[in-house]
Amino acid sequence: MPVTEFICPNGQKVGVEKCLKSCVREQRCMFLPTLRAVAKSVDRKLEQPTVTELIAGNRETYLKKMTGYAVSPESVLYALQGQGVHAVHDQYAGGAILSEERLRDDTTSGQFDLYGQLLSSDDGVLGDLKVTSSYKIMRALGYYRKSVATGEVYKTGAKKGQPKYRQQIFTDGVRFVFEWAVQLNYYRMLLEAQGFEVHDMYIQAICRDYNLRLASERGIDRHIYLIPIKKISDRWLKRYFAHKAKVLRTSLKNHVLPPVCSSRERWHDRKCRDYCEVAAVCPYGARIMADAMEKAV
Ligand code: SF4
Ligand code: SF4
Repeated sequence: MPVTEFICPNGQKVGVEKCLKSCVREQRCMFLPTLRAVAKSVDRKLEQPTVTELIAGNRETYLKKMTGYAVSPESVLYALQGQGVHAVHDQYAGGAILSEERLRDDTTSGQFDLYGQLLSSDDGVLGDLKVTSSYKIMRALGYYRKSVATGEVYKTGAKKGQPKYRQQIFTDGVRFVFEWAVQLNYYRMLLEAQGFEVHDMYIQAICRDYNLRLASERGIDRHIYLIPIKKISDRWLKRYFAHKAKVLRTSLKNHVLPPVCSSRERWHDRKCRDYCEVAAVCPYGARIMADAMEKAV
């Protein structure tokens, strides 16, 4: 089941159809075409799960497919930014570049963004477009912040005589790209099964908030980054996806809620608390949100 209700800015819930027909308030909270696009972007069909659906936690994907839930249109606008960027690239692909082709195997299906001569005359480059936050890009690049001694000491006050520290960005950390790497590698495998050679894989990440101070504090001072992705073994990919698809299929068939998403899938609870669209209908997510609200008062 897709999103069935929109949450108005005043917290009122309104059926999506009803909202699109006419606003229950004096004036719409955003343009009607924007609302139509949002409604389309959250309309999830109950068909074979895609690569991106299998990368998310099975519980999250199950709830998005099986449960009617409500979202604030504003909170899912980010998806339209991504769709806009994809549409522009699709329009300007062509020639030695393929774009937005959906490929399938027995387990799943996936639509790669771009393949071909993306960066040079090498026609075996697979690319994926992301419109994302400076936080995600910082982690994908392996950047991190650490306190370093400035060599100076406080001359007055309670800290007199103690060393001064400042935050510094380091670029030699672990690159957290698991989900992107798994997604792109599965597309690679699907392409190779069709006889296309893939020599290199890249994420082109466009930073949504690069002009904010927060982004520069994270070491992100550019709007766009090319992030190389390493090859993952086909054997591992096949086993990982086959297992997740089997668990999800069984849950969907028997109408049984899958186990709680893994700690990595739920971003160590950050996703449940702030970003998961179905948290309100997930017993685990509802508890995390209730705890967070209790702490906030
Ligand atoms: S347009 Fe906005 S305010 Fe009006 S019903 Fe829809 S979600 Fe609510
Ligand atoms: S709230 Fe957390 S555990 Fe529940 S579906 Fe969302 S990410 Fe998974």
